[in-house]
Amino acid sequence: MVVEEKSRVEAMEGNQQRGEVNILLMGAHNVGKTALTVRFLTRRFIGEYGDMESVYSRMERIHGQEICINIWDSQVEEKGCWVSEKQLQWADGMILVYDICDRGSFEAVRQQLQLIRRSRKPASCPVVIVANKRDLQHRRRVSGEEGRLLALTQCCCFFEVSAAETYHGVLLVFHRMVDLVRETRALRKSSAGVRGIVRSMSAVFGKKRAE
Ligand code: GDP
Ligand code: MG
Repeated sequence: MVVEEKSRVEAMEGNQQRGEVNILLMGAHNVGKTALTVRFLTRRFIGEYGDMESVYSRMERIHGQEICINIWDSQVEEKGCWVSEKQLQWADGMILVYDICDRGSFEAVRQQLQLIRRSRKPASCPVVIVANKRDLQHRRRVSGEEGRLLALTQCCCFFEVSAAETYHGVLLVFHRMVDLVRETRALRKSSAGVRGIVRSMSAVFGKKRAE
């Protein structure tokens, strides 16, 4: 899977100028991707969501700035762990969700991370790992430490939440994701500035040496 670097950079810069952030939500079936999205958008937990894949948009004021957040609530096969090129190109940041009661869904996140990291490095695409359904402690199959360790080794942020129980935890996840995308953009901008200075200096010194 190869992502065309130039078009992705152009897409990212276009989003940056428009004040938009594209967030891709991924994870196995039934982990609560739609529940998290709906919680963030409406503050509500409905219970049953159906299997529709959608992109939602919402304006948010974060740190005093208006941001248009686009959320792609993706849909995968039963044990799906693939990432399409279209998704990789579209996303400024990704939220990978698993269900703490479903070890298979944790393994799916591990595999999705490997696929993502082949073409999107942490410096170009921040990833937040979300362990959902923390209200179901009696059915837990994945410990918090395992989730935190995976996040640590893959340079991701980690949250354990319950879409069913609280709105605040879910809000924190989306706001952190937006912050990470903005930090990534700021870093790209400053490193592009440094590269420009290095290029000009080499041009000047290269010229001097040639004289
Ligand atoms: P998706 O396939 O990943 O989009 O999963 P859904 O959002 O459709 O949720 C799958 C099922 O898990 C639904 O029955 C939800 O009500 C339930 N669910 C989602 N989040 C939670 C949660 O935090 N706690 C509990 N107990 N159930 C949840
Ligand atoms: Mg869904």
